[in-house]
Amino acid sequence: MKKIKTYSAVFLMAVFFGAFFYLPVYGVDAPAVDYNGARSRVARIAPALEEIAGRRPPIIVTPEPKKDACVLPNGNIIITTGLVESCATDDELAFIIAHELSHIAARDFENSGTPALIGSRGIPDSELREMKADLSAVHYMKNAGYDPRASIRVLAGIADESALKLRLYSLSNYLKTLLHN
Ligand SMILES: [Zn+2]
Repeated sequence: MKKIKTYSAVFLMAVFFGAFFYLPVYGVDAPAVDYNGARSRVARIAPALEEIAGRRPPIIVTPEPKKDACVLPNGNIIITTGLVESCATDDELAFIIAHELSHIAARDFENSGTPALIGSRGIPDSELREMKADLSAVHYMKNAGYDPRASIRVLAGIADESALKLRLYSLSNYLKTLLHN
């Protein structure tokens, strides 16, 4: 009986302090800065991918119409509302989050200051990092239950520079293997 009372007291204290810290942070502030659902959409999609990637970085959604995502030198992921809104499906947004998580797993953000080096087969290092992040991202997507084929729609929608064509070619070929396993 005494034990039960102790547990009850601990439980009540946990509820009290939980509410004390939780309400000011999430209860009041969050709806005002959800950017038409962009933040909660990212928050809903990211956890399954973070679980697979074994990384749980802060993901910051910024209110900008420009379509952009990157990893900052401190390891935080930045995604613009423009990019979130351009994703017609959760699978497409999952690819973007998975791609940035892949950069973190490969620790790319630590040496992103060397963009012009030429890697194997005459492909710039920066472009190789992007291709590797794409391939790793579709793995994360498949394992987290998202449709990896959405990656093609995202990449094709960014632009059609020659570098992107190479990424698309590499990713399409890789998907054929991934989806047949
Ligand atoms: Zn990238």
